[in-house]
Amino acid sequence: MAAWSRKDFDSEWKGKYFKLLEEQETADKQTQENEVLLCKTITRLTLAAKGLNHQLDPFLMRIHKTVKSGLKSAQLKIELEGLTKFSFNIDDSGISAFDAALLFDYLLKLYSDDKTVKLLKVLQQKFESGEFKTNDELFLALVNATEPQSIASSFAPSGHADKIKTEILSQQLLLLLEDIEIPFEFEESTERLKARLQNQSSASSFKQLLNDYVSLLVKIKNHIQSEQKDIKDFLSELTEQLTELGLQAIGANDANRQSQINRNELDRFVSTQMQELQDSSAKATTLEPLKQLIGTRIALINKEILHHRENEERARQKTERQLNELTDKIKRMESESSDLKLKLSIALDRALRDPLTGLGNRMAYDNRLELEITRWNRHKSPLTLIIWDIDHFKNINDTLGHKAGDKTLKIIAKLLSENCRHLDFLSRFGGEEFTMLLPETDQESALTLANKLRKIIEKTRFNSGSGFLTITLSCGISQFREGDTAESIFDRADKALYKAKQMGRNRCMAG
Ligand code: GH3
Ligand code: MG
Ligand code: MG
Repeated sequence: MAAWSRKDFDSEWKGKYFKLLEEQETADKQTQENEVLLCKTITRLTLAAKGLNHQLDPFLMRIHKTVKSGLKSAQLKIELEGLTKFSFNIDDSGISAFDAALLFDYLLKLYSDDKTVKLLKVLQQKFESGEFKTNDELFLALVNATEPQSIASSFAPSGHADKIKTEILSQQLLLLLEDIEIPFEFEESTERLKARLQNQSSASSFKQLLNDYVSLLVKIKNHIQSEQKDIKDFLSELTEQLTELGLQAIGANDANRQSQINRNELDRFVSTQMQELQDSSAKATTLEPLKQLIGTRIALINKEILHHRENEERARQKTERQLNELTDKIKRMESESSDLKLKLSIALDRALRDPLTGLGNRMAYDNRLELEITRWNRHKSPLTLIIWDIDHFKNINDTLGHKAGDKTLKIIAKLLSENCRHLDFLSRFGGEEFTMLLPETDQESALTLANKLRKIIEKTRFNSGSGFLTITLSCGISQFREGDTAESIFDRADKALYKAKQMGRNRCMAG
């Protein structure tokens, strides 16, 4: 084998070297081409991604600029690191700033009338300052601001960028729909709209789609409003019913204190339930869950009222029993009391009545005189007293017997009684003496009346059994005067009687 010559060795090494150099050049060229391609791609991507998220946009713009200086640029490295770091922290909860910014951009392009544009700008500001707590709130505000008829007729999307935007918007509109609680009645039309949004590719048909979208949302909004009105009406009716129930419970029993405490508890319970219902209603957007909630609350309230009524009924029955026992006791006592009253009245009557003649006795006279003196002191109307005494009555007893004497006493009592006014008060003062109190009668009139009576007795023929007797009476008369007492008026009349006796009997004397 021939040994390697220096020439051969050099030639081989050079060949390898040039080959490597060539490969290196090819690789460098490829790298340069790749780098240019990558820069171009990054530039395109930054342009394409612009507007997807307004927080990302500044990073993208800076990358777009720095990538032109080549991939090895230290600034590009910093920007790319910043972008990577930022992309980890992007908030993707609810409607992102990107969604809303894009949506507002789109709506502002779509609507040309000043009023809607102004409204949209106000809403955008509100959204950016975080005034909308939920997507629903933002969404309803947007629906209110953008009625379908106000959509600008000048809407005419065209070109590739618009196609991208309509696709992105379609996705955003789909996302928004996911966030909305769709009432049952609108589920079918919503599904149809979702299908159209998913297949949306043509920018020219997007106007109609958006119109239908907004129109559907307006319908849903109106439906929710009508549901809320129904809820309001339903609640006000319910409040009336519950108030009535509460009033019934209040009116159940006024008698006992425990009942009052129970009622207060019930009232508090009903009020709490009502308050909670009102709170729930304020938050409610659909009627069905609220109806279920109300149903539960009503059941609770009814149960409580039922429980309250059972307690009330037990308390009422107890009170009724006690009341009945008390009523029976009172009836027994009343009956006993009326028995006693009757006995007392009989006893009093006996105590005041003369059993022989049936006239009032001395005690009755005393009572009546006291009453008449009181009246006199008040009205000063004339009051006169007559004291009657049977002349020689002892003789009757002595000759005809005590029984005849009694009979005589009865007849004279009857005659005197029958011939005086109903107003006059005749009593048997004692033995054969009678007193007569004459209200509204002065001494003179009393004298006239007395003489009339005296004459009646005088003319009466008393049957003695063996013939007829004449019996006479004498009387003393006195009118009540200022400063008089029961005793003083009696004394004067008695003195007058004494005079009448002294003057021969069968006569009337005023004193
Ligand atoms: P004067 O004309 O003075 O009045 O004479 P007098 O007899 O009527 O009077 P006196 O006082 O002397 O007698 C009264 C009598 O009346 C005495 C008493 O027996 C009688 N007397 C009193 N009460 C009764 C009574 O209830 N029945 C009977 N039968 N007599 C009575
Ligand atoms: Mg006498
Ligand atoms: Mg006498």
